[in-house]
Amino acid sequence: MNTLTATPVGGPTLPQERRLVTDIPGPRSQELLDRKSAAVAPGVSHTAPIAAVAAGGGVVVDADGNSLIDLGSGIAVTTVGNAHPKVVAAVQQQVAQFTHTCFMISPYESYVAVAEALNRITPGAFAKKSALFNSGAEAVENAVKIARKYTRKQAVVAFDHGYHGRTNLTMALTAKAMPYKSGFGPFAGEIYRAPMSYPYRDGLTGPEAAKRAIAMIEKQVGADNLAAVLIEPIQGEGGFIVPADGFLPALVEWCHVHDVVFIADEVQTGFARTGAMFASEIFGIEPDLITTAKGIAGGLPLAAVTGRAEIMDATHGGGLGGTYGGNPVACAAAVAAIDVFEHDGLIERAQQIGDILLPRLRALQQSDPRIGDVRGRGAMVAAEFVDPETGDPDAALTGAIAKACIAAGVIVLTCGTFGNVIRFLPPLSIGDGLLSEGLDVVAAALAAH
Ligand SMILES: *Cc1c(COP(=O)(O)O)cnc(C)c1O
Repeated sequence: MNTLTATPVGGPTLPQERRLVTDIPGPRSQELLDRKSAAVAPGVSHTAPIAAVAAGGGVVVDADGNSLIDLGSGIAVTTVGNAHPKVVAAVQQQVAQFTHTCFMISPYESYVAVAEALNRITPGAFAKKSALFNSGAEAVENAVKIARKYTRKQAVVAFDHGYHGRTNLTMALTAKAMPYKSGFGPFAGEIYRAPMSYPYRDGLTGPEAAKRAIAMIEKQVGADNLAAVLIEPIQGEGGFIVPADGFLPALVEWCHVHDVVFIADEVQTGFARTGAMFASEIFGIEPDLITTAKGIAGGLPLAAVTGRAEIMDATHGGGLGGTYGGNPVACAAAVAAIDVFEHDGLIERAQQIGDILLPRLRALQQSDPRIGDVRGRGAMVAAEFVDPETGDPDAALTGAIAKACIAAGVIVLTCGTFGNVIRFLPPLSIGDGLLSEGLDVVAAALAAH
């Protein structure tokens, strides 16, 4: 070889190019995929049939030496860029110092520093506190625990198309049966589902959609029983659904009047992704509690609940936590990543990426009526594919385009309750040239189908 024998070091110094030297998957990737199907439970599926060996900037390199453009960031995780040098340095230093004490046994500084940073950068000019966990689902579970303890009420309202995780409580909170829930019940009780604002499909204004949701909540749940309203400010897995203006503020207002905790699940939208530090800012809302994970630590597993101090203070000692929650290596990574979000212009970069993605996709939509809707904010943008005659979701076309893009060296992800949405979530470290080339490939795949 060839590029194949030596494993390249990841990070932004990787050659920033789309390069195909074999079919996807190549022989080395296929070898790993064969081992995977023999050794790994099939419930854990994969999107891109490759064996990843390095990533950084805007590319993922596989074991065969193919370099793919990354428009997915491992589901909105490597927002600062994969193997970001500041994250790598912080992790290397911490891992050599100590790897674990358990914060509930012997506390350490980096956990407290992450909590302080989250309290400072999340929306809301009120006193806040945070608690750290391992995954987004765990953060959502804990936000629900905290809201129930604080309000002494039990019911929780989630929304159509919502996604909150794969644990038992978060499966109940998640809307879509297949693949997330099917066969995995029984589910946790006291979960109710309200209609979402989905402007492309419901045609309602924000206040109209809020009125519809609140009417359902009042009639079918009752504020006296309701601990929390849980919502993604822009829905992620459900299809990058951006609610109409006024929808979220009306819900927040109703929650405040009725002693209901408003929880914004910003696991996917958080940390500069939408062109604001948190998507709640775009809609002018100050949630009582915010859940975060994904982009928080440059790829290391970490999650948090952050919110009003008086609500967080309702929990009793030992009621929250976990063996690994706020692991020191993940916290060191988060301190570094949050520093990058705040000081390296990433909010502006996410806006610039949106300024490339949205017009390009809208131009495609002009010439191809199978793109029913283009929506999103910043570096969280999607196209919804439909039958132009009926407006029905076209999941088959969506899947075929995504598959063709990956075969051509561009990693794109699909989403949506109806499986008919392609979402664009590039790392903010991607260059303009690579991003445009990725979109060229998407356009060519669309033209070919
Ligand atoms: C991914 C996601 C979760 C679950 O996070 P995990 O880390 O996979 O448990 C929860 N909420 C939203 C909005 C997500 O996008």
